[in-house]
Parts: sequence; structure tokens; C-alpha cells
Amino acid sequence: MRRYYHISVILILFSGIILAQDHTESNTVDRPRNVILMIGDGMGLSQVSAPYYYMDEEPVFSQFRYIGLAKTSAGSAPVTQSPAAATALSTGFKTYNMAVGVGMDSLPRKNIVELLSEKGFLTGIIATSSITDATPAGFYAHQPNRYMQREIAQDLVKSEIDFFAGGGIKYFLDTTGVNLFEAHGIEVNYSRLKKIKKPEPGSRYGFLLGADRLQTMLEGRKDFLKKSSSIAVDFLSTGEHGYFLMIESSQIDWAGHGNQVEYMIQEMNDFEQTVRSVLEYAKEDGETLVIVTADHETGGFTLGAAGENGYNADYSIIQPTFATTNHSATLVPVFSYGPGAENFMGVYENTEIFHKLASLLITE
Ligand code: MG
Ligand code: ZN
Repeated sequence: MRRYYHISVILILFSGIILAQDHTESNTVDRPRNVILMIGDGMGLSQVSAPYYYMDEEPVFSQFRYIGLAKTSAGSAPVTQSPAAATALSTGFKTYNMAVGVGMDSLPRKNIVELLSEKGFLTGIIATSSITDATPAGFYAHQPNRYMQREIAQDLVKSEIDFFAGGGIKYFLDTTGVNLFEAHGIEVNYSRLKKIKKPEPGSRYGFLLGADRLQTMLEGRKDFLKKSSSIAVDFLSTGEHGYFLMIESSQIDWAGHGNQVEYMIQEMNDFEQTVRSVLEYAKEDGETLVIVTADHETGGFTLGAAGENGYNADYSIIQPTFATTNHSATLVPVFSYGPGAENFMGVYENTEIFHKLASLLITE
């Protein structure tokens, strides 16, 4: 009898401990209402480091407390390309390098936009490339090859995406002169960004400001990324439920492929300014999880000391250099802020970003 008494006391104490732990756990797993996923295409750690040396103010990256590293390999190769990386982030599946929203078997995989739309979330995508380019396409399209841009354009108009901004008008005008947007009742502005006043419930809006890609920062793109992000947030916040917004700085990657230092620095500074304004909004809002990451690194970029070798090295001067004109397999940073941000610490596969977001946002 006495023995049983002891066991039951121990059990009661033990369950008390479990309950206490459960309680702490549920306090730390705060769920966000909204998610803004920001992708610097080709943005490795050296690219993130660039604003620390080529900007006057302290870069916004210093404001993040929860930081992780993501492994970027594709399903078919250790060095990923953007379609496979976007698919990993949007669907949680590793796939072959040219695949957009399909698995190794070329069959469609459900993406986060589709999953969240079913739950009543509004969704948006922004890019400084054509909106049909691999990274944004990964969030709405299902095609076996990234270069099937006309099919990808068809997928966009048929998708659940409520807001988009970028370039790529030409992919939406078919050879018979039919405008895909008109055919699907989507309101698109081709001339300039402007706030969406009194959006109709259920309406979809787009801004396409280039036949294909947008201008580079050096050509005068100005604050397109920051401004379109703020227009998107205003519009998407009008929904009854939360929203999911993907913002891509597409051209950091192109500067890396071209080994163009000034182009890369300008694109990084533009992305930094956009992250800064998104983070300011998220701090005020309190219900928005912000994730800033990359699909992969491009160019093997580094900030080495000047000089050709150890004999004439000049450590007082940074000489930005590139090791390749291709992508590299280095890990990429993941900065997170807001409810649930602590889940993004550590070193993990890029597919985990999808799984972490899904488990935070989809409760039943
Ligand atoms: Mg891209
Ligand atoms: Zn690339």
C-alpha cells in the first residue's frame, strides 16, 4: 500500500513536471499571423558582409537575434540552381536542378501558397526579375523546366496568388494577342507602382514594369523593391486571415554570375533597404514572422585583402573577388524575426524552412 502511495506521488510529481514543460513549450511556440519570406538570390555570407563595408549605417542584419544556416544542395546535385532551391523552400521537396514546383519524378508538389490559400491566407510574390523567373515561379508554378516561361505564366494566372510585382509582361501576351490577365480578370498596372485603394474582396492585383526583367540598380530601378513590398503588405493585410508574402531580390545572383562587384554591392544595398523597411513594419505589427535567406550563393564571392599573394598583400584594402561565374554550394544564412523566429536557429536543409513555416502556420 505504502509502496503504491509512493509511486502515485512520483507519478503526480512527474506529470506535474511534464505539464510545466508543456506550458513553457506552448509559450515559446508563438504562432505568427503573417509571414514575409525574403530571398536574396545568390546571397551568401560574403554578399551579406558587403553592406558592412560599403554602406554608411549599420546594416539591418545586425538587428536579427535568431540566425541559422541552410544547406542548399539540390536533389540531383550538390550545387543547386534557383528552380530546385525555390522548390525546396516552397514545397519541402528536394528536386532536380531545372524543376519548378515538381519533384524528382516531374510530378507537382503542393507549395506553401496553395496550402495557405486553403486556410484563407492572402498571398503575394515580388521579384526584380520577370515574375515567371525560377525563384518566384517556385511559389506558384509546376513545370518540369524553368525555361517553359509561357506555361509558367499560365500557371500564375490560374494560381492562388493575390498580388504580384516584378517584370515579364511579354510572357502574358500570347501570340494571338490575348492578354492572359484580362482573360482571368486580374487587374495589372504596367506603368508604375501605386497603393491599392479600397481593394475589392477576392480581387487580384499585379504590377509588371518590364517586358522581361526589371532594370538593375545601376540602370536606375530606384526603390521598386521596397515600395512594392510596402504596397503588398498594405493590400495583403486587408484579408480576414493572415498573409504570406515572398520578396525576392533577384539580381544579386546576376551580379555574381557576371563577377560585377559594383552591381552586386548596389543590389545588396537595395535588398538591405527593403529588409530594413519590412523589419520596421514587423516590429510595429508584432504578428509577422520575417525570414531573410538565400536560395544559394553565386560567384564564390569574397572580401579578400588586396594583393596577388602573401608577399605583396595589403591588408588595409579589401579587394572583392569571385572564385567562379557559377553558383557555389556554401551554406546560406537564415535571419528570422517575429513570432516563431527561434525555430529557425541551427544548421539544417533548406527544405526545413518549408516544414518549419508549415508547422507554425497550419495548425490542423
Ligand atoms: Mg531568382
Ligand atoms: Zn544564378
